[in-house]
Amino acid sequence: MIQFDLHVHSIFSQCGIHTVLELLEQAKMIGMKGFAVTDHGLTLPGGRLNGPFFERFKSPCPDVKILKGVECNLLDENGNIDAPWFFIKLKVIDIVLLGIHPNTHKKLGIDAYTDMLIAAIRKNPCIDIITHPNDVNYPVDYKRLAREAKAAGVAVELNNSKIMLARADIESAYDLVRACLDEGCSMAVNSDTHAIHELGLDDSVRPILKDVGFPEELIVNRDEESALEFIESRRKNKVKTD
Ligand SMILES: [Zn+2]
Ligand SMILES: [Zn+2]
Repeated sequence: MIQFDLHVHSIFSQCGIHTVLELLEQAKMIGMKGFAVTDHGLTLPGGRLNGPFFERFKSPCPDVKILKGVECNLLDENGNIDAPWFFIKLKVIDIVLLGIHPNTHKKLGIDAYTDMLIAAIRKNPCIDIITHPNDVNYPVDYKRLAREAKAAGVAVELNNSKIMLARADIESAYDLVRACLDEGCSMAVNSDTHAIHELGLDDSVRPILKDVGFPEELIVNRDEESALEFIESRRKNKVKTD
């Protein structure tokens, strides 16, 4: 089980079906130490900006920490993303994820998607994790991505639900982990929870890490302490640069 899950959706994403407190109850029940609520950036249809959560929410449960985050989308090939800049500038956002989602055209090719992610990492120091780069619809050069992510202190995600739901093939996950290992790039192991029973799950990807021999020290959320250290080390980047 993931002790500190850094990728979880609530009802503020169109694809999420639970409230933050329902997620908290589940996390408490299964003995997790914490999780980040990372609803989609507003470019995807049906999402909502959870402003009061960012500004006012404090977890009622001292045993389970809740981080405030967002999973942003690419806006163009120049590295622009749909981050909630107002709340980032207020410094109330703990973690920023970036993933390629259906607002980006399909069939642009591996070089285009890799270039777009690299441009976004360079332009937006607030990005902490690149989510599911092994999405079958958006092929990415894992080596180039891992090299760039490492240089920027960004983690690359190993996403449990994409494998669990067969939305990414397992070979792609092996290739991704091998590329991160070769480049010495950190990974985040996340559930990408949309339904409550997915919270903290890593069963679909844990054997891959073991097979490849990926070192625990390179997993930014290997436990609560490392997850919080990673978040703190990235906090200085939570500014808008232009
Ligand atoms: Zn995503
Ligand atoms: Zn997600």
